[in-house]
Amino acid sequence: MKLPMQIFIALGLAIKRNIHIFLGIILGIIFGVFMHSYMPKLMVNQPAVGSIIYNTLDLIGQVFLRLIQMVVIPLVFSAIIIGISSIGDNKQLGKFGGKMVLYYAIITIAAVVLGAFLSVGLKPGEGVQSYISAESQIEIQKSFNQITDIDSADKSNLNIVNIISDNPIKSFAKGNTDEIIASIIPDNPVKSLAQGNMIAIILFVLIYSIAFARVGEINRPVVAFFESLFAATMKVIDWIMYFAAPGIFALVATSVSQFGISMFGALSKYFLAIFIGFAAQLFIIYPLMLKIFSKVPILTFYSAIAEAMMVAFGTASSSATLPLTIACCEKRGISHKVCSFVLPLGATLNMDASALFQVVSVIFLTQAYDLHLSIFQIILIMVLAIIASSTSAGIPSAGLITIVLILDGLGLSTSQLIQGFAFLFAVERIIDMFRTMNNVTSDAVVAALIADNENEINYDLLSNPESSEVI
Ligand code: ASP
Repeated sequence: MKLPMQIFIALGLAIKRNIHIFLGIILGIIFGVFMHSYMPKLMVNQPAVGSIIYNTLDLIGQVFLRLIQMVVIPLVFSAIIIGISSIGDNKQLGKFGGKMVLYYAIITIAAVVLGAFLSVGLKPGEGVQSYISAESQIEIQKSFNQITDIDSADKSNLNIVNIISDNPIKSFAKGNTDEIIASIIPDNPVKSLAQGNMIAIILFVLIYSIAFARVGEINRPVVAFFESLFAATMKVIDWIMYFAAPGIFALVATSVSQFGISMFGALSKYFLAIFIGFAAQLFIIYPLMLKIFSKVPILTFYSAIAEAMMVAFGTASSSATLPLTIACCEKRGISHKVCSFVLPLGATLNMDASALFQVVSVIFLTQAYDLHLSIFQIILIMVLAIIASSTSAGIPSAGLITIVLILDGLGLSTSQLIQGFAFLFAVERIIDMFRTMNNVTSDAVVAALIADNENEINYDLLSNPESSEVI
């Protein structure tokens, strides 16, 4: 049997175990389509009923989302501190870290290359050219060509460093370094905590965890405290998940209701490029990684993490899904050491599906405005997408917002491209749900690879679906 088919079947069996969440998604889609068609009429004829329906759904969705977001910070703190203090020696920590960077890099580079091939091959932007006003096309073509001329005048030294110091990337790169440093290194950890700045929080916790690991036995009271915090957090997650079906139903229904079916025609090639890319990640790239770098059985693994995949789809947030990703992986035998180190970092930094989406979307925009890209500019888009996606937080639409960094890098401004952007906004939530599902899957895949390589996986637990029931 072909692998994609087998993966479908494995996911199907896992869905059976989590049928309530799956039903939440399906009913959410159906109700969302219904709302999209009838809500405008209802709002005119019976505005009170319409707003009650909309507000109730919004309330249920928000309650669920906020509940799972509520446990992210205690979870990140406790998971990383216990994980690193149990790794103990620097050598093993270095190994975990090195492998994690390597695997995340491979997965993300594969994503941007795939995105570039798909968008150059399928030309998704041509479908919307007629919707963009001729004036704005001409205006952008003029300013874009000026930048391209500067680039080609200096072809003898064509490399990234030169381009970076030759065009608006310079200011982007410069202006941004301060911002990037400020968002990575917390001068005031309490402030970062209050702002929910995950990268800064993780760096702070990582440094302290390594210090706790180094001070030896004296760390016992702190580690014991975080061990009980972790256990209690897992219990809270179990309780929150009772609310998963209505929560995900409400989130999916409100997203789908905003989706204009009429957009579908003009954007059909865009959808095609994006979804072929996402499918290739799920059915080719991740399975290949598992096969080449580990002996983790692909189907068993996918079925083990199906619950996290569905929650990622419903919430469109890798950070909000983190508690579930950790729970699924630990329940099925990936050691706490690996999960607590790799998954929190993955949920914040590893956004391979977002990188793919960004490459396709930026090339889509340039095609919509009939701008011609050189090979070099395409490579630049890919490099910038790797950077932009990793600086995206694991929250809804972060990947769409950080596209601005790539456009800046190309010398384009969002305000000039607003008509093209409108298309991306219109279908954003739907695409975000899929890309978050892939982002979360790849975090778990990397955790499994490292766990396999480092003998940190219990294969008996992995192959036993019953073990999903216990933590
Ligand atoms: N929503 C995505 C995530 O949480 C990030 C993105 O918007 O691309 O993984």
